Amino acid sequence: MISMHEIYNVLLFEFPYFKKINEDRRTLLCNRTKLFIDGTDFIPKKGLKLTNRMIILIAACSQQLTLGFKKHYGYDYFDKIIVYPEKYLSTITQKMHTGEMNTSGIIVLSWEDFYKGMSIDDNAQNVGLHEFAHALEFMDIANKDVDEMYSACLDKFITIGRHYLKNNPGKIFFRNYATTNMSEFLAVATEYYFEKPKEFFQNEPELFEALDDAYQQNILSKNARYSNESTKIKTISGEEIYGNTSSLLNQVGEVIAYLVFNGFAGFITFQMPILGCILLGIGNYGIYHFLIKSSFMLYSDNVKIQQPLARILFNLMFPRIVSLSSVVSYSNVLYVAVQETRNNGLKQQWDFTNWKPDVEYSFSVCYLFEGKLTYAKLSSTCQNLNKVFTFLSVKKKVATRFEGELVKF
Ligand SMILES: [Zn+2]
Repeated sequence: MISMHEIYNVLLFEFPYFKKINEDRRTLLCNRTKLFIDGTDFIPKKGLKLTNRMIILIAACSQQLTLGFKKHYGYDYFDKIIVYPEKYLSTITQKMHTGEMNTSGIIVLSWEDFYKGMSIDDNAQNVGLHEFAHALEFMDIANKDVDEMYSACLDKFITIGRHYLKNNPGKIFFRNYATTNMSEFLAVATEYYFEKPKEFFQNEPELFEALDDAYQQNILSKNARYSNESTKIKTISGEEIYGNTSSLLNQVGEVIAYLVFNGFAGFITFQMPILGCILLGIGNYGIYHFLIKSSFMLYSDNVKIQQPLARILFNLMFPRIVSLSSVVSYSNVLYVAVQETRNNGLKQQWDFTNWKPDVEYSFSVCYLFEGKLTYAKLSSTCQNLNKVFTFLSVKKKVATRFEGELVKF
């Protein structure tokens, strides 16, 4: 039995789309996810251990697509979902597949590919949305119950799409797979609609509008449609919001770098005091600014985290773990953990509306980066952490207060 509470928590932490919708929509998504789960058989294959979390995420993906519909959002015709642990050999095509929609009312997914597609939410690759888009279209073609508005606008989208493919041979906006046939065109465009809406709108507004009418989600606000660049967030007094960050890796590196360098400079000081003192000054400054300091800058729709040069070395050693500069959209920020220490040493519940200058705060931001949970510690030396935090809480990105215990604002 899966409870609403469990659904809400899984979606809050792992489902990027959940971050983009307001509280009413979230409640609607949770309710419909539960209905979908209750009416569907989830069948694991190849020894996969299917957990509640997996079921919730797959069901929520189906309901993400139809959240704008008033009725017929439940894919009544499709009552089985088969889940493989990874890519599987399709008995129909004899090729390895990440997912498929079977016209006998079954959807098949590779969990590994589904999860990757869902958690990286800005690359227009989402096998879950892709297959559910096929399922909806199939129900429309086969005259099953579908949303009327969807059905009407889909016809329009397909008509415009045919023209578009004919008039733009070899140079379409979407990835090439979209040219396979009109069903694939729709499924791929759906992935772009949810994951790259701004680019989609700016390149192909007519197609975008038709799909927006079909899914009825109004996914881009009027402002977002025409703003080309992310703007730096400024406070009322006009200063930009930025600060330093560090991670455990940075801190360990910092200690090692200082020990090695100061040992060396100290040794020189014994031999040549003046040169030694100059080395100590320049060296420590250099280590801080070029090897250690990492910073972040808040933009209107993302956070940019800039890593120091020392990260180049780490990049060479562990190319997949870190990157020099990462841009994290707010939808991928899961929560910010706060801890405050009063000058009497006592730790207390923190109230973000009541920022106190005599209190030391430490924060860590938890976000999804390339599908992995990543933490950045915001340095307590940052001058405007209160503004950072107030801003993130206004964006509803703050979900915690004290010593890792999560409390949603
Ligand atoms: Zn397809």
